[in-house]
Amino acid sequence: MWREKIMDILNFRIGTEEEADGSLHPIVTSGSAAFGILLRSALVMALAFAVIAITERRDLSWLFLFMLWGGAVYPGWKQYQAFEQRIKKIEEETICGSCKYFDEPSQLCRPYDEHVSKNYIPCEGKDWEAKKYEK
Ligand code: SF4
Repeated sequence: MWREKIMDILNFRIGTEEEADGSLHPIVTSGSAAFGILLRSALVMALAFAVIAITERRDLSWLFLFMLWGGAVYPGWKQYQAFEQRIKKIEEETICGSCKYFDEPSQLCRPYDEHVSKNYIPCEGKDWEAKKYEK
């Protein structure tokens, strides 16, 4: 159980959802991408300190900056882009995209505290309220 959770964090996801064709699709949020970057960065830094301590090659420490970029920051940034694409798709393809209860950063319906997807609208449209009438 905890191994799956760690793998989810390392892969910038909070779980999976089933597509219409039955395939599973990973769910990424801004929070899961940020947490994944932090965890990966911590692992790279721990590895860097261990390697430098064992080999005593401080002159190679700049290599770990590339590892930090390639192993944590760049993949996290790509996942964040995927997250933005997903939000855009949800906004275009579901009723929740125009609802005032939809929380974009977490992809949650606030009253139901559930994730929204193309195939799953928690309220089935009954509690929809337009965003533009919120203020
Ligand atoms: S209240 Fe209904 S329409 Fe609005 S975000 Fe939640 S599930 Fe979607």
